[in-house]
Amino acid sequence: MSVVDDIKARLDIVSVISHYVPSLKKTGRNYKALCPFHAEKTPSFVVDPTRQIWRCFGGCNEGGDIFSFIMKIEGYDFREALRVLAEQAGVQLEEQTPESKAYRDHLEQLQLLLDEAAQLYHEYLCNAAEAETARQYVMQKRGLLPETIEQFQIGYAPNSWSFVLDHFRTLGYSLSDLSEAGLISENEQGRYYDRFRHRLMIPIRNARGHTIGFGARALDSDQNPKYLNSPQGPLFDKSKNLFGFDLARRAIRETETAVIVEGYLDVIQAHQAGYHNVVAQMGTALTETQVQLLAKYANRLILALDTDAAGQQATMRGLSVMQESLTGAFSQVVPLFDAKNMMRTGGRLSLDIRVLRLPEGKDPDDFIRAHPELWAEQVEQAQPLAQYVIDIGTQDLPSNATIQERENVARQLLPLLVATENDLTKRYNVQLLATRLRIPEADLLSLASALQQHQQRGTSIKTIVKPKKTTPTNNGHSSTSGIGTERYVIARLLEHPDWLFVVNRKLRELAQEHEGLREFLTPIHTQDFSQEVYRVLYRLIEAASYAGESSPMNYIYSEAPYEISSLAETILQETQPQGFRKSSSTVHWSTAEMVSILRAQDSSLYDESEILRDFVIRTLTLRLERIKNERNDRYFFLSTDYGILSNEDMALVSLYTQAQKLLEQTIRNLTQRQDNQRL
Ligand SMILES: [Zn+2]
Repeated sequence: MSVVDDIKARLDIVSVISHYVPSLKKTGRNYKALCPFHAEKTPSFVVDPTRQIWRCFGGCNEGGDIFSFIMKIEGYDFREALRVLAEQAGVQLEEQTPESKAYRDHLEQLQLLLDEAAQLYHEYLCNAAEAETARQYVMQKRGLLPETIEQFQIGYAPNSWSFVLDHFRTLGYSLSDLSEAGLISENEQGRYYDRFRHRLMIPIRNARGHTIGFGARALDSDQNPKYLNSPQGPLFDKSKNLFGFDLARRAIRETETAVIVEGYLDVIQAHQAGYHNVVAQMGTALTETQVQLLAKYANRLILALDTDAAGQQATMRGLSVMQESLTGAFSQVVPLFDAKNMMRTGGRLSLDIRVLRLPEGKDPDDFIRAHPELWAEQVEQAQPLAQYVIDIGTQDLPSNATIQERENVARQLLPLLVATENDLTKRYNVQLLATRLRIPEADLLSLASALQQHQQRGTSIKTIVKPKKTTPTNNGHSSTSGIGTERYVIARLLEHPDWLFVVNRKLRELAQEHEGLREFLTPIHTQDFSQEVYRVLYRLIEAASYAGESSPMNYIYSEAPYEISSLAETILQETQPQGFRKSSSTVHWSTAEMVSILRAQDSSLYDESEILRDFVIRTLTLRLERIKNERNDRYFFLSTDYGILSNEDMALVSLYTQAQKLLEQTIRNLTQRQDNQRL
């Protein structure tokens, strides 16, 4: 039990609120009073002792738990409310453990160290006599201007075994810190030396502009590898960051377009030429996390891929990989050219994904340097992904190909082209292929569904974990309805903040189909959580997302006070089967947890889309609970006051009922997988 639950179990909301609102009177099963937060003549402030919540139906039109009440009436923040109520309840607040504090301090120190290292390399490039060759390379050969070098903080690591080592040892940094930050390496004899020597140093920064690692380019032709990156570490996770994102974010938001290139210098060159919405993925793969990060700001993604033979080969390799296995429906790492996953992700996030092929087989760096003014035009002319796939897939098909040859190509391409979750796009893609292959569209559609069935049969073993057939409700953390669900949703969002998109898209679709119920189908909101602690965490998850931080926990560690980050930690730990330290009476294995256990046992049994489905169901259940509660409260409130409902109130209550039914039906469909195609 977390401290918050402990406090709630010990304090009664009625007695806490009575202290501030002495006129609180029992009416039926609830308590009523004039609202303490706004002036009124008839009471519209209700306290429900069963659910331990309060609500004002008057001017405030809001409600919450004991924490929200204290925060609102005393003007406290959550942390202060926690302290005050803990004291009233006689609950000892957990002190920050020396270990957790030490770890946070340690990460902060590494961050600082990397920022300093970037500055050190940068100053060396600008000033040192030994950096003359590097300066010439960067300014003459690469054509970078001093302000660009400054903006990207480009630096030079001299040809020394101990430049960084000596500098930071003198400042008191330990060998293990330097090593963990990826600045030094250890040889077999246990001796440490500078990892980066005689290289152009390009700092890789997180969304908030702090250095988390380096991309280091060789300066001599016989130096290997050409690019040496920082090793993966607690700060540097290249699957979650995009190079240049800190500088590109604003332009991406403004143009609603993000251009993804392959190299650091492509990004730098584009920014220098005034094209600021350009970022690079690092390494060979574009991950789903990266795509989702961009999707927060952009609705169009343009992949500026290498057009050389290797690039095309990679595309084709992607195609054949897709042929073999299409199951890991929600795989985390997507090879850059895996068109199928790009289409699926794009469809799911309503993204328009396009491919930019530069003329003359040039990479963006060369192209922009030669024709800076033509870049915008190229971006404008980028091809829709499906068209690109069809182009590549049919380029070797002779013009007099037999029907058999054309059908073979169709077999290869169809699974990709129908991977999108947007029906209109799917239809359009098939039409496009039909025209190109001169095969009737209807034939292609039936071929597509035959292929899909074949695939499902062939892979049924991989989806043996079926979701529960009942609507998940609260998972037994408390007698207070829905708390288990709220906690579960927060725990999942702490790991996968982007899953919120899927739920909100579902709500948006429902709102489009049911115009009259629009106000009940708004995006997920803090008010969907009845408990203040989850509202606080939800706000932080949202804030992390706005800050471009893909890991909410990182953000919470750096921005939220310890009391909150340790609560987040507890909640996250509770939903993870490994290290489940709860007593058996509070353990309820959700589908998601079972899948995680199976995943640990056999990775082939794991299908993350099942967890996502479970998450969507439970998040919609939150909204359903909120609607039900508000409806009941309103009904109770209105009818006890006036005995009978006015037509207006009746109409309102009836809207609530309709919204409730709609959500119940939606959840039922999702649970019974009737909505299979839509998720
Ligand atoms: Zn009020």
